Amino acid sequence: MSEVQPVRGTKDLIGEDARRHFHVVETARRIAATYGFDEWSTPVFEQTGVFARGLGDTSDVVMKEMYSFPDRGGESLTLRPEATAGICRALVSNGLTQSLPQKVFYTGPMFRYERPQKGRYRQFHQIDVEVLGSPEPLADAEVIACGWAILQALGVAKDVVLELNTLGDKESREAYRAALIAYFSAHRASLSEDSQARLERNPLRVVDSKDPGDKALVADAPTIYPYLNAASRGFYDTLRRHLDRIGVPVVENPRIVRGLDYYSHTAFEFVTSALGAQGTVLGGGRYDGLVEEMGGPHTPCVGWAAGVERLSMLLSAPPAAPRSVAVIPIGDAAEATGLDVVQALRAAGIRAEMAYRGNVKRRMERANKTGARAAVLLGEAEIARGVAQVKDLETGAQAEVPIAELVAKLA
Ligand code: ATP
Ligand code: MG
Repeated sequence: MSEVQPVRGTKDLIGEDARRHFHVVETARRIAATYGFDEWSTPVFEQTGVFARGLGDTSDVVMKEMYSFPDRGGESLTLRPEATAGICRALVSNGLTQSLPQKVFYTGPMFRYERPQKGRYRQFHQIDVEVLGSPEPLADAEVIACGWAILQALGVAKDVVLELNTLGDKESREAYRAALIAYFSAHRASLSEDSQARLERNPLRVVDSKDPGDKALVADAPTIYPYLNAASRGFYDTLRRHLDRIGVPVVENPRIVRGLDYYSHTAFEFVTSALGAQGTVLGGGRYDGLVEEMGGPHTPCVGWAAGVERLSMLLSAPPAAPRSVAVIPIGDAAEATGLDVVQALRAAGIRAEMAYRGNVKRRMERANKTGARAAVLLGEAEIARGVAQVKDLETGAQAEVPIAELVAKLA
């Protein structure tokens, strides 16, 4: 393959693609801030162990999808496939496990070696929200409400439903695991190879399987609900009450599991039918055991991650391209004043441009081509009188405006 092609499964963000992308990220950042989340940034690569431990070595991501490589010093590093493990590593590395809770907003590129298709890439981007260090169901409710508020602000909530489940506490999950192992063992021969291998170690992973044959068996598998102890039932009911109160519509789905040992209680996905097979736009849950897994103290956490590319695709209309004021000097001598004017407009926060070269006609053509909203025409005689011609490029209306009043007129 030619070197001028991007790597398979990666994409450049330019023009409308870039506008959609950054609109999603900026909207999420703004809403998360209103919920009291602070933005963190951690390195794009970590020691491989951070993810191998953080995601569990039976997960698809760790088994098949990680970009891992030895660096020149021989250390095994991995391009992050998700943000949570790195955030928990950072919590511990920075000695923040005594300053809890921490409410973290995160965004950035993630890397997974997967078969590229619509909504599935090898470099993709996530937005992420985590509450670190809170065992209360109120934290789960807040994290979910924040996700819902972001989907609403993006105008995509109407196409998306929240599917919610609980995995209970350790005791409830142990009882459920035993029931799942008994059920799947009776159908062992019909399970996919992956699921057979996972059956004893992690039967919850089988519930998560995407294999069509497995899915048929999973449909009749036991749910966790009869196995929830009183504390787990109470946690789940409290969360449902909070979500009701906040007004987040919930559909219960017993098939949503996060098949890792340190996941507990809440598991959820926001799903859509508008993106074909890649229907999950946002997924998350409570992971009370992960920070401990990273070598920190017991720290209950809850959070979610959403795919920016999938959210970008859901946006009905692309955000409008920004429109400039075009400053157009007429003749070389006017260029210096043009430079003063374009700088004054920028200093006032107005998007303004002056083409680098060309006569009036050329510069006017460029203004129209780039979608400028107005043109400021500066002729030498007018400059001498301290005025400019301002042309509204939408209506075509033209008016003489004192140069000193341009900022006020164009704001
Ligand atoms: P899927 O079932 O689609 O593989 P997942 O369970 O692997 O998703 P998570 O690890 O929960 O996904 O990541 C959270 C979100 O990140 C997903 O809901 C999705 O929107 C997005 N995402 C995950 N993998 C990719 C990818 N390869 N390309 C684009 N977006 C992705
Ligand atoms: Mg996946």
